[in-house]
Amino acid sequence: MHYHAAAAVLSVGDELILGQTLDTNSKWLSMRLLEAGVEPKFHMTVPDDVNAQRDAIIYLSRLVDVIIISGGLGPTSDDLTRNAVALATNDELIEDEISLTQIEAWYEARGRAMPHINRVQAMRPSRGQSIPNLHGTAPGIAATLRHDHRVCDIYCIPGPPNEMMPMFETQIMRRLRIDPLRNTYTRTLNCFGIGESDLATKLGPLMDRGRNPLVGTTASSGVVSIRIRYTGEASRSDAVRVLHETEQLAHAAALPYHFGNDDETLQACIVRLLQSKAQTLGCVESCTGGGLGALITQVPGSSSVFLGGLITYANTLKTSLAGVPSDFLDSSISKSGASVSRETGVQTPPVGAVSRETACALAQGGLEKLAVMHCLAITGIAGPGGGSREKPVGTVWIALASADGSLDARKFNCGNDRATIREWAAKCALGMLRFKLEGITARLLREQPS
Ligand code: ATP
Repeated sequence: MHYHAAAAVLSVGDELILGQTLDTNSKWLSMRLLEAGVEPKFHMTVPDDVNAQRDAIIYLSRLVDVIIISGGLGPTSDDLTRNAVALATNDELIEDEISLTQIEAWYEARGRAMPHINRVQAMRPSRGQSIPNLHGTAPGIAATLRHDHRVCDIYCIPGPPNEMMPMFETQIMRRLRIDPLRNTYTRTLNCFGIGESDLATKLGPLMDRGRNPLVGTTASSGVVSIRIRYTGEASRSDAVRVLHETEQLAHAAALPYHFGNDDETLQACIVRLLQSKAQTLGCVESCTGGGLGALITQVPGSSSVFLGGLITYANTLKTSLAGVPSDFLDSSISKSGASVSRETGVQTPPVGAVSRETACALAQGGLEKLAVMHCLAITGIAGPGGGSREKPVGTVWIALASADGSLDARKFNCGNDRATIREWAAKCALGMLRFKLEGITARLLREQPS
């Protein structure tokens, strides 16, 4: 029996090669293949060039048991996947009558006649098969490429994700020949507040490449994930046991930064923790302009714990909405460089909007005004202007005030560019809250001495 143990995903399209479209199909297909027990070994992307596609198919067919090709099945002259498969398999294209009828029916159901150019979509290699597409006009194609010692199956599916996914689920999955003795089980441990290399150092020999379960790390938007994957013949219960053993070791190495597993995001973790304690949260945001609230409200059910927030971008609103004393803020700095209290007339050194004092006042003001049990406040310099030697672009102060009377304020360096600074600031605020809710005393990545 020829099993599909190893797979390659081949993406086709000039728009992918030129960086105009992000190749999300490869990511999705690889995850689904892995879950199904077929190991993705290669990703390749080729332009709308029939020779490049043919060469890629022949090259990959010597290395894997199955190739999934997405894209290039449309009706226009740059859609050449059909031709490339025919060339690679040394076959000729013929018209598939059933496909033609289905494409015509697709148009008829929408009250239109099939444009002549769509007829080409019914073509397939003579020794191959057409795969019906219920969500568009492009049928898929199944073909086989035989070498002396290897047989490689090729499945072509449309590029648009809303056609690609259902065709893979309903048509390709059942064609995959999965070795019943080769099981794959995965687990992901998500961590925040530690850098990827520091985490890798802590994991040490757990990351040895010959190990099974295999352990790897990936960093994305501040979250470092530990990926654990078992592949082998063990029964499900044995595989789950060995996976769990490795998970325990990885968890111990990642303490106290491990916040959740698999698809759980940092914001989902925060909502879960607040819900388990029946506590509420609010926020006062300056440089993130609502980004923290947006992150939290991504989580379904967040309304049970997140009451809302204030966006106090201008200093005037920091004072009028959150009650920050105006003499903390730069707008009241006197020419001598000191601020003068309106109330007392006494000169004090100006602390400015981006300071421990202002962050704390924002958090405490928000705690009272929003009547919440925890209030996070963020104030920082997102750039590109506004930085100074003492407070360079990327300096962010975050404070957390809680109804139990605690007040935590930390300074961070959140990066160099505006988007990164704003994203990291919101994530660091969530990281601080997580430590508070879990009773953890530790520093977070990017935290600065203050
Ligand atoms: P059709 O032309 O019938 O829509 P097709 O199979 O020819 O289907 P392409 O023309 O290659 O598909 O791609 C159509 C669109 O699908 C692209 O413009 C892009 O938006 C999306 N797409 C294609 N490939 C990918 C990919 N790998 N990842 C994400 N989106 C993709």
